Amino acid sequence: MERVIDGASVRTLAARAAGAGGVPPGPPRSLAKISFTLWVTSERYFRLGVGVKSAHNGGMDPISPLEQTLHAARALVLADLVAGRVADADVVSLVEQSITQRRWWVEQWPEGAQFVAGLVAQDVQDALLERYGRWPLCPVCGTGEPHALDVEPELGPDPHWVCTEAGVKVAAVGSLGEALGGPASS
Ligand SMILES: [Zn+2]
Repeated sequence: MERVIDGASVRTLAARAAGAGGVPPGPPRSLAKISFTLWVTSERYFRLGVGVKSAHNGGMDPISPLEQTLHAARALVLADLVAGRVADADVVSLVEQSITQRRWWVEQWPEGAQFVAGLVAQDVQDALLERYGRWPLCPVCGTGEPHALDVEPELGPDPHWVCTEAGVKVAAVGSLGEALGGPASS
């Protein structure tokens, strides 16, 4: 089930989101669609998360710790989606839906901020299961029924993808590409 129509552009977005630098030149035209979504989303962040930017302070408001947390979680999960070649525009919007819900969640319970990356990964996994199928497939087990990795801890810091059948940690959330044998372009 290869659904990555536009892996390169999402990879670019993920790199930008991660602050990795080195954005490749000449993004494909389809990037505009995704960029628009992200732009609209970030407009919303500024209104809800940081407050309406006033004209008198003459500069950008700092990004709140909450938004930094959400930003990091988005970057990690997008990186794993890109690694698994399922990061088309529809899937990116699933990530945004999760981010929106988790923003609310962290606002209710700020101590849960460090759990957000693992929760977003699980939200996206659940949403993909309904619409696309299992993700991410286990790259460790060579035999038997194909199965998805799970996030552990389900509610905790430093989330990892694990194969419960083999009982192994496969990769940190955000580092699935390494476990899958390199970047999505290979
Ligand atoms: Zn496995």
